[in-house]
Amino acid sequence: MKDFDENSYCPKCHSDKISSVWVAANAYAHKRPWGDDEEAEHINRTCTRCGYKWNELPLDISAALEKKND
Ligand SMILES: [Zn+2]
Repeated sequence: MKDFDENSYCPKCHSDKISSVWVAANAYAHKRPWGDDEEAEHINRTCTRCGYKWNELPLDISAALEKKND
């Protein structure tokens, strides 16, 4: 999952009009917060032009992961 980027473009139609919704990790993923994309905390991006959806990594989680990998 790539890091959240407020300047992201839709990979399908290259629109820059993209909504962002934070989604909490589910109860199972809470035990392993760096788990699968669908279970871990993420930001759901939705292109408001073509409707394509994808997930990006919240910036605080991204920072924590970098620290962990040092
Ligand atoms: Zn699009």
